[in-house]
Amino acid sequence: MRETETIWMNGEFVDWADAKVHVGVHGLHYGSGVFEGIRCYETPKGPSVFRLREHLTRLENSARLLHMELPYSGDELRAATHELVGRNGLPECYIRPFAFYGYGELGVHTAGNPVEVVIMSWPWGNYLGDENAQSGIRAKISSWKRVGANTIPHVAKATGIYLNSMLAVHEAQRAGYDEAILLTDEGYVADGSGENIFVVKDGKITTPPLSTSILPGITRETVIQIAQDLGYVVEEANLIRSDLYLADEVFMTGTAAEVTPVRSVDDHDVGVGPVTLELQREYLDTVRGQSERWSHWLDLVELGDGVPQGARAEA
Ligand code: PMP
Repeated sequence: MRETETIWMNGEFVDWADAKVHVGVHGLHYGSGVFEGIRCYETPKGPSVFRLREHLTRLENSARLLHMELPYSGDELRAATHELVGRNGLPECYIRPFAFYGYGELGVHTAGNPVEVVIMSWPWGNYLGDENAQSGIRAKISSWKRVGANTIPHVAKATGIYLNSMLAVHEAQRAGYDEAILLTDEGYVADGSGENIFVVKDGKITTPPLSTSILPGITRETVIQIAQDLGYVVEEANLIRSDLYLADEVFMTGTAAEVTPVRSVDDHDVGVGPVTLELQREYLDTVRGQSERWSHWLDLVELGDGVPQGARAEA
C-alpha cells in the first residue's frame, strides 16, 4: 500500500502514521464493520469520483443491516471524501471509507461501543493486475460457498463477510489460479472474492440475480446499463458452473477490478472475447469522463492548493 499524506478520521484529518486505534476495538475482534471501495479517476474536467453517492448509499444500507448508526450523513461523508482527495493530491486513487464499532465493551453485543468512521485514499492499480485486465485471469471455483442470505446479509459490504472471500482467494491462489469464484450452497454461481460475474453466450449477457447471495455491485449495475445502451440483451438469471465452462466469454466487474476478462475457469479455456473488451473500453471511457452519456455518474472534485506535482505524475 502506498502511503498518502492524510486520512480522515472521525471528522478530522490526521497524518497517515497517526491514524490508529486501540487493540480493544470491537470491529477488530468480531469483524463488526462496513466499508466501501470507490475510485477517483482523472477526467478532462479534473479528478472525479465515480458514483460516489451510490457508494455512500450502499455504505448507509450496509450499516443499517448491522443496526449501526453512522454518526455522519452521506453529504458530510461526500464532502470529506472530496477534501481528502484534494489534500492527498491524487487525481487517480482508490478511496476506502469504513465504519466500525470501536473501543468500549468487548462482548459480542455492540452496546457500549462508539461507531468510528474513517476514509483513506491511496493509489491502486487494477485489483487483479493491469496485465490480467488485458489477457484475462484464470479462475477456480472455490470449495468455500458464498455466505447465504440467512447467514449474514450478503447485501451488506461488511468487513466480517470478507473472511469468506479471503479463504476462497487463498485456496485459488495456492492452487495456482488468479481468483476464486464462489457458488451458493445450492450450486449457483454467486461472486468472485471481490467481483460480480458475467457470462456471454450467443451474444446475450447473463449475470446472477441479487437472490444468488451476490453483493449488489455498483460496477455490475453500471456495466448492465452500458451494455443495454449498446444494444445488448442483459439477463439476470441463475448460472451453474457448466455455464461458465461453456461460455463464449466470462468477465468480472468491480470497482477495484473494473472490467476484467476471465480466460479460463477450472482450466476450461474460455478466452478473452470482443464483448468483454468492448464493455471494458466503454467502462474505462465512462469513468475517465470520455462519455457525455454517463457524465451524471462523475462526482467532480476540486483539488486544493499545494497539490504535489509528483503525485500528479505518479498517480
Ligand atoms: N462482489 C463482492 C463480493 C465484492 O467484494 C465486490 C467489491 N465491492 C463486488 C462484488 C463488486 O462491487 P462494486 O462493483 O460495487 O465494487
